[in-house]
Amino acid sequence: MADYGRSQEAQAYRKWYKTARWRRRRADHLAENPLCVMCSKVGILNDGSKKLDGSPQPHKRRRFLVCDHIQPHRGDEYLFYFGDVQTLCPDHHDIVKQREEQRGYSSEVDESGWPVDPNHPANR
Ligand SMILES: [Zn+2]
Repeated sequence: MADYGRSQEAQAYRKWYKTARWRRRRADHLAENPLCVMCSKVGILNDGSKKLDGSPQPHKRRRFLVCDHIQPHRGDEYLFYFGDVQTLCPDHHDIVKQREEQRGYSSEVDESGWPVDPNHPANR
């Protein structure tokens, strides 16, 4: 398990999530994009109330949506505030982040099946 996210570096940027600037950005994004983009790709309209298979999310504390940085900001303040974001359900967010943290790149693919992350070995 990578312990990225618990490092000293992570401590430094954790406070960014508490700023009014980020909270406003997050609220605006989720208001305009109120469905998990990855659930939508497989035809499930998930406003945060469902699990990956589309059934109701039984855990109250997992009923929300994540405003996720598409390119991991890794402590980069500009990316944090201005990098592209996407809406994810908690389950998809966990899956995506775990893969990125373990491998150092995202395994997300586009419609043609090609990896979208420029750091993916196929794009180097
Ligand atoms: Zn999802």
